[in-house]
Amino acid sequence: MRYGVKCAVCGGLFDTPSNNAKYCSDGCKEQGIKLKRKAWEELNPNYNSEAGKVFRGKQKAKRMERHQQFLKDKAAAIEKITGGVFLNE
Ligand SMILES: [Zn+2]
Repeated sequence: MRYGVKCAVCGGLFDTPSNNAKYCSDGCKEQGIKLKRKAWEELNPNYNSEAGKVFRGKQKAKRMERHQQFLKDKAAAIEKITGGVFLNE
């Protein structure tokens, strides 16, 4: 079974065995994906900044985790050297 389809980019008619084809050629497909992406970005203007925030938040959490581990290791090392005696306790 072949379907007659109107290309979503150039409007040209083509036929295809696929029942969900939207584009007549690879060139139009590439163009269509770009246009779709652009339209989506216009609908979601905060995407980049929101994604950036999430990413930076995760990076910060990782950094804090590593820092906590560093402090623990440092405390363990000092405890080993001093036998658990802390002057400031
Ligand atoms: Zn086309």
